[in-house]
Amino acid sequence: MPDTNLVNFLRTEIADLKAKGLHKAERRIESRQLSDIRVNGQSVVNFCANNYLGLANHPEIVKAAEQGLKDWGYGLSSVRFICGTQDIHKQAEQQIARFFGKQDSILYISCFDANGGLFEPLLTDQDAILSDELNHASIIDGVRLCKAQRFRYKHNDMADLKAKLEEAKGCRFRMIFTDSVFSMDGDLAKLADICDLADQYDAVVGIDDCHGTGHLGKTGRGGAEELGVLDRIDVITGTLGKTLGGASGGFTAAKAEVVDWLRNKSRPYLFSNSVPSSLVMAGMKALDVIDASSDLREKLKRNTAKMRAGLEGAGFTVKPGPTPILPVMFGDAVAAVKMAEGLLAKGIYVIAFSFPVVPQGQARIRLQVSAAHTDEQIDKALTAFKEVGKSLGLIK
Ligand SMILES: *Cc1c(COP(=O)(O)O)cnc(C)c1O
Repeated sequence: MPDTNLVNFLRTEIADLKAKGLHKAERRIESRQLSDIRVNGQSVVNFCANNYLGLANHPEIVKAAEQGLKDWGYGLSSVRFICGTQDIHKQAEQQIARFFGKQDSILYISCFDANGGLFEPLLTDQDAILSDELNHASIIDGVRLCKAQRFRYKHNDMADLKAKLEEAKGCRFRMIFTDSVFSMDGDLAKLADICDLADQYDAVVGIDDCHGTGHLGKTGRGGAEELGVLDRIDVITGTLGKTLGGASGGFTAAKAEVVDWLRNKSRPYLFSNSVPSSLVMAGMKALDVIDASSDLREKLKRNTAKMRAGLEGAGFTVKPGPTPILPVMFGDAVAAVKMAEGLLAKGIYVIAFSFPVVPQGQARIRLQVSAAHTDEQIDKALTAFKEVGKSLGLIK
């Protein structure tokens, strides 16, 4: 079959991406997802998984998934409202709701779907969505699917949010929606200020807590608990695919009426398959593990503090923030890439991010610290950072 015009076009576009160094090549991991992984036959310490508490492959969670398979089977072959709801789906939704102190929750195949199916059912062209400019792609797409008026406020800029709320005063409902944790910078949304503004302008507040749930806050309730405002947040979306075991599954937690409405109107829920039983059982177990002890959260805090102090002590610039996401700033994209390559050669697996993923001139290596990292692994990483940084002339 000859190549179509589309294929020919894509070939030149892909060549262009490669020429600009923007083509994403995936590295193959030849082991399980752990703090130590095998890549190209080499054993490397992993600093780029969202595995903040090290629960991906946690034995109890894997066992729960196996139990889910045994007791409830592999697939549902149905969406929830036809014949895809098992007892465990309802139990998991109740557990997630209780976890966040909300009335109910609704499961999705992913948080991408939770965000994709959140706005369109709730808001119409009479309403307004106020969205942080750095919000996750799934929020941006979800907002695009919705007819509400869109107000994009500058990142964490409360004066700008206030101005936009003022502009949106005439609308029927206003919803402010933000990532609780911004994954490229590791900073938190100013949720207390956002809630104050929401009170003042009669707005609903929603957060996407994907990078907070499980490890932030005293009891792991995420970014809102960390900032002491969990009870002031109306809607929380999140994932089972990061801290909570790392497989997949997403959810929205809110008041009962909001969740009931989503069950009736949210398209990724209505028209996509039920979350498989094994993931549902594993998700519940992950929440049990979070509730059973704060040891892993404390270990994560210690590991993050050690890593940050070591990097800063060596002369690297690390963006400030309270999360285990440590953006080590290089500015220049080539420097960041060379640094990442040098680190990989020394057994440290990190990824360099540059434009357009982050703003021009703000290239970085984003480290994600895990409770699963040992002191030796962190020391090894710090030594490698110093050696490679010096050899590239990036630190003294
Ligand atoms: C990872 C992530 C998502 C997507 O979650 P999935 O469950 O993997 O679809 C959505 N929002 C944010 C902020 C994320 O970091």
